[in-house]
Amino acid sequence: MGFFTDTSVCIGCKACEVACKEWNGVPEDGLDFTGMSYDNTQGLGADTWRHVAFIEQDKPIGNAESGIDHAGAPGNGATDMRWLMASDVCKHCTHAACLDVCPTGSLFRTEFGTVVVQEDICNGCGYCIPACPYGVIDQRKGDGRAWKCTLCYDRIGAGREPACAKACPTDSIQYGPLDELRERAALRVEQLHDLGVEDARLYGHDPNDGVGGDGAFFLLLDEPEVYGLPPDPVVTTRDLPSIWKHTGLAAAVLLGGITAAFAAHGRSGGRR
Ligand code: SF4
Ligand code: SF4
Repeated sequence: MGFFTDTSVCIGCKACEVACKEWNGVPEDGLDFTGMSYDNTQGLGADTWRHVAFIEQDKPIGNAESGIDHAGAPGNGATDMRWLMASDVCKHCTHAACLDVCPTGSLFRTEFGTVVVQEDICNGCGYCIPACPYGVIDQRKGDGRAWKCTLCYDRIGAGREPACAKACPTDSIQYGPLDELRERAALRVEQLHDLGVEDARLYGHDPNDGVGGDGAFFLLLDEPEVYGLPPDPVVTTRDLPSIWKHTGLAAAVLLGGITAAFAAHGRSGGRR
């Protein structure tokens, strides 16, 4: 099970952020004016499990026309402006490095294929934080433990949809079996291309990508970097098995050398 977030219908209302906080008891994360459009949290963190990005661009969407002529207005006289709004979340990676490095078993894979951190087991070691290729998981100030989206483990276990998907008025956030969501997403991209929105593309949908596909994937209207997403994420623990193999090999060679040296020393000592 997972999320498909279709950013082409997001209206930036932040109902998802509010519903997530409300249901999961996530503390307030600063209500400062950041100067970044209508974004007052700026990114995902221990106290922001859904983050709605606002990206302002001088660019029309597809064949759309702004219908407003700003030519005589002060400034650069731009006639086209658009907002890209996108509700970001933990990707619930198929190969999740956060889970690989957790020494306590606090992070685990659920029966729904999602990745959940258990706050009563987390010891605050922080290993998972640099391991996440998306910079999602984070330690809470004054608490030290790691927190992130659970894909509403308690709700989905009771047959309900996650709070953010339930609250989204435009169905920008959709929850369901990943195969069905992927099919729906591919049709939506086709539809947008037919409407002239050529930049529409999927992100995180491919099970052959560097993290084995995301349990939370997106339809974007520009390059991933524009949204602050890595263009080609790779599971950071990918090389661990070969590192352990080479370390084991090196240790065996070293041990062999030491044993041979002792044996040789013993033989020469015996001749004296
Ligand atoms: S996005 Fe980061 S925190 Fe979420 S499952 Fe993947 S590695 Fe873990
Ligand atoms: S609730 Fe839906 S439309 Fe509103 S900001 Fe979140 S994703 Fe966008």
